Amino acid sequence: MRIVVCVKAVPSTTEVKMDPVTNTIVRDGRQAVVNPFDATALELALRIKDERAAAGEHVDVTVLSMGIPDTERLLRDCIARGADDGLLLSDRAFAGADTLATAYALTCGIESMGAPVDLVICGKMAVDGDTAQIGPELAGALDVPCIAGVERLVELCGKVLSAERATDAGREFVEVELPAVITVAKDAAQLRMPSIAGVLAAEDAPVAVRTAADVKADPTRTGLAGSPTQVVRSFVPERAHEAVPVEGTAAEQAAALATLIEEACR
Ligand code: FAD
Repeated sequence: MRIVVCVKAVPSTTEVKMDPVTNTIVRDGRQAVVNPFDATALELALRIKDERAAAGEHVDVTVLSMGIPDTERLLRDCIARGADDGLLLSDRAFAGADTLATAYALTCGIESMGAPVDLVICGKMAVDGDTAQIGPELAGALDVPCIAGVERLVELCGKVLSAERATDAGREFVEVELPAVITVAKDAAQLRMPSIAGVLAAEDAPVAVRTAADVKADPTRTGLAGSPTQVVRSFVPERAHEAVPVEGTAAEQAAALATLIEEACR
């Protein structure tokens, strides 16, 4: 069985610089960490690997990222925690991609692996772009089913995966036949620590770095130029600090609040 875990490098701080021309994040590798949702995704993949190993079946876990060259450091950290290998799609042609162009690039990366992929696990969202679109878009591009927002992997029996997820209407149990894409909520699992042996093995582990040409990506569908949507402006909203105390009884406070809201809406 082969599982691909999509891992995005995200800024470790909220203080990010935006490129004033392209309105995309200036990605500084030194400040990057693995998107917290993707750490959960990796842990769920490693648990499947462990369970199947106990039953005598080998599961290959590949961590896949589209990012700047420094992202390789994060993929090696994932390998130190138990992934088998990594694939980094790194090319200026990918820069500034929106989610459609990102999902397309990741699909090219998956298809370049040359071996069938049974399960793709993504985080529910990335904490910087925060769109939660990549998982479902990947499923559409790969033409496989998708369960989004998984909070608990109930069972993987043969090729049938059952999972529990939260919805606005309550909790839902969903079954899907692999191959499939799932996206996972952050609290679904806590990523294990790397072992000493893992850290040492990760130094020489195979992390393939591929360009857009290597994965035969259509240049008209990658990067900023290949993105049908573009972020026009990103800004930190001004935070007004004038606080207005609302005193009195509950009824008086309600009336005062109503007046304040009416004035604010004028
Ligand atoms: P999400 O869909 O939130 O990520 C879900 C999962 O997909 C991740 O947990 C991870 O598992 C996987 N994943 C995502 N990106 C990668 C990657 N590069 N490598 C490996 N796995 C990955 N783009 C739009 O199309 N529409 C928007 O409205 C939009 N708004 C943005 C707003 C801001 C402030 C910023 C900084 C970017 C925005 N973008 C938007 C660009 C968007 O961040 C990129 O397209 C990004 O590559 C994927 O979108 P996301 O981060 O929202 O991913």
